[in-house]
Amino acid sequence: MLGLNTIVKHHSAHNESEESSSQCDFRDNGGGDSTGLTAFNSPVVLPFPQWLTDFTGLTQWPGLDPPYIPLDFINFNLVPGQIPLHLQGQCSDPRLRDLSTCSFDCFNCVASDDAYTCPKLSQTFDDGPTPATTKLVQNLKTKSTFFTLGVQIVRFPEVYRQTYANGHIMGSHTWSHKFLPSMTNEQIVAQLEWSIWAMNATSGHLPKWFRPPYGGIDNRVRSIVRQFGMQSVLWDMDTFDWKMLDSSNHRREQDIFADVRKFQIANGGKGLMLEHDAIVRTVDVGIEINRNILGEQMTVPQCVGGIDYIKKFQ
Ligand SMILES: [Zn+2]
Repeated sequence: MLGLNTIVKHHSAHNESEESSSQCDFRDNGGGDSTGLTAFNSPVVLPFPQWLTDFTGLTQWPGLDPPYIPLDFINFNLVPGQIPLHLQGQCSDPRLRDLSTCSFDCFNCVASDDAYTCPKLSQTFDDGPTPATTKLVQNLKTKSTFFTLGVQIVRFPEVYRQTYANGHIMGSHTWSHKFLPSMTNEQIVAQLEWSIWAMNATSGHLPKWFRPPYGGIDNRVRSIVRQFGMQSVLWDMDTFDWKMLDSSNHRREQDIFADVRKFQIANGGKGLMLEHDAIVRTVDVGIEINRNILGEQMTVPQCVGGIDYIKKFQ
């Protein structure tokens, strides 16, 4: 079972020590902030569309392990076959060091079409939509980029629509936040296709921008992401906002603000930041950074001169 705490945590590309799945609940952390949410306690409310029944033969949104539905535009012969599967933090296989693998989670490697920085230091938010997203959207004074989970979208489609209606860019963050380099090609396709279908069923668009959970991406995963027409988005400034939620990390709001100011100066006002909109405490940090620390910002497509969506149907 995947708790929401597991979803928010473990985004760092380099903190192997954090990888074990935590048993603690959000509500046990954060100084009694009872607004912490466990989204998987919420019911699925997004209707399963007829077009998806026609295509998949199914009648309801899947659980955490979505079924692989073959797609005629995905060619597995184009996917590099020499890259070994690996678990998060297990980077000792020498083949993972090969440049042709280009692992971000192991070695911070980025490909030429990855977005990972920005001319203006800009925020991005992962793991929504949740009710906390609503507070964020009501308080942001700039347009931002949201990397959304399918399992959250089908629970909070109105929050997704509201975020999109406010002009923010909606990207994919997979269906259920799995570490993709450990999965088979078919499982990766399933994580991407169900995420895209949830976005399309909610707001009638196909995403251009994809952020891998935990930064888990290599050239095998990229090859599949590209066949969907998407580009991968990483970061060069990790706020580690989720570390606030586990008191053993001793990370507090003011530590994050100090780190952001430091990065801002050291990096000449450029960069792409990783934050989370899964709970109110990280959202509050995002609002403070937005209103009182950063200046003008850009969306990911603005950062790299790209399109907002592959297609909009409505
Ligand atoms: Zn995430």
